[in-house]
Amino acid sequence: MTVHKYIIVGGGQAAASACEGIREIDQSGSILVITDEAHLPHQRPPLSKSYLAGKVGLDKVLVHEESYYADNNIEVMTGVAATRISRRGRKVALDNGSTVEYEELLLATGGRAWRLPLSGADLPGVFTLRKIEDSDAIREAAGEASQAVVIGGSFIGSEVAATLTQLGVKVTMCFLEEYPLQAIVPRELGDYVTRLFEDKGARLIPNMRPERIVGGERIEAVHLENGEVVSCDMAVMGVGIRLNTQLARDADLDLTDFSAIAVDEMLRTSDPHIWAAGDIAAWPDPHYERRLRVEHWDVARSHGLQAGRNMAGASEPYTKAPYFFSDIFDLSFEVWGDLVDWDRTVIRGSLEEESVSYWYFRKDTLVGVLAMGRPEEESDPMEQLVVRGLVYDDVADALQDEDQSLDDLL
Ligand SMILES: Cc1cc2nc3c(=O)[nH]c(=O)nc-3n(C[C@H](O)[C@H](O)[C@H](O)COP(=O)(O)OP(=O)(O)OC[C@H]3O[C@@H](n4cnc5c(N)ncnc54)[C@H](O)[C@@H]3O)c2cc1C
Repeated sequence: MTVHKYIIVGGGQAAASACEGIREIDQSGSILVITDEAHLPHQRPPLSKSYLAGKVGLDKVLVHEESYYADNNIEVMTGVAATRISRRGRKVALDNGSTVEYEELLLATGGRAWRLPLSGADLPGVFTLRKIEDSDAIREAAGEASQAVVIGGSFIGSEVAATLTQLGVKVTMCFLEEYPLQAIVPRELGDYVTRLFEDKGARLIPNMRPERIVGGERIEAVHLENGEVVSCDMAVMGVGIRLNTQLARDADLDLTDFSAIAVDEMLRTSDPHIWAAGDIAAWPDPHYERRLRVEHWDVARSHGLQAGRNMAGASEPYTKAPYFFSDIFDLSFEVWGDLVDWDRTVIRGSLEEESVSYWYFRKDTLVGVLAMGRPEEESDPMEQLVVRGLVYDDVADALQDEDQSLDDLL
């Protein structure tokens, strides 16, 4: 049996970045990446935006081209799933019947798209979106469709609804919340996004649950709980993910109460030779003093890099504040910090001019910022300010005053 110094299970951003992290410290130890997907490790943000729109190809989705792995002595097994970890022997069983042995193991198994268990949810023409193949299938269906229903008004739902609209499909988006992106954006911005969708010809139905999906050989309509029947040729569900943590559960690693893998500040699990990164990992954040788990690209990337470095002996705590971005039509958002829970915001700039930042406070303490179209030089201070525990009364006036540089607050 081959023994690998490092084994990485997963084919997403965290896995790809972990290869880089390991190689920053250890240029020669053998690395094996095992992914059950058919492709080399890749990122997902383009799958709902530029790749779905057909504006970029697969090369912009893959994190590294094939030559990177050969040049760095990294073996990638595609289309193979890890099925069992045996911690005592440090072995991983694979679904191709073989077993591989590790010195250090990284779990970067991410999540899979959730499909609402509605009647008709399995009809042809009803999609979820997580993989390259999903994005391909949605684009192909959009080429033939005139009407689509998007279920879900968070980031994936909103991005897909925007891209389908740009592809010329008439979109109806229904969602449980009062306005799109409600978990993260203030009402004023949510209303702005709603108007943007409507101006582009999409219809938004807030506070609404789909009841069932009907059709013959393919989807024909979505029935909503208010009795309305929305005719369509396709539907996309953007209703969240389920974490791929069964391997960790079966191996008796510590999980959190929401089925994520609990890691320490080094991103190490309850087993000293097993690490976890990306969507599946809940880490103790030093700034907000609680465990965070974040389903965003930058966290997967930064976790992967740090876990890789630490697997190779670096021993550096993970201290980066969460960051993410989203694009809806021509609006680009950037968010720093922990926006799970907030009670008031301070506004800098102007939404009408699409140059605005919202500063989020929880019980008078600054916890995050969302920025859209702000000057480039504000990015660094934004990232730094959100982890300083700044108090509302001390900074609210200065934040609102665009004549005052954010650097002065640092
Ligand atoms: C369509 C879409 C758009 C997004 N857009 C944005 C965005 O604009 N901004 C942003 O910040 N974030 C965005 N995200 C979120 C971001 O892509 C995720 O947070 C990120 O992909 C997480 O990376 P990961 O490596 O942890 O997991 P994943 O990307 O889920 O990768 C996990 C990998 O592990 C594989 N795997 C699972 N189990 C096994 C097993 N047993 N054996 C072998 N392989 C296994 C999976 O098949 C997959 O390849 C988007 C996500 C999607 C789906």
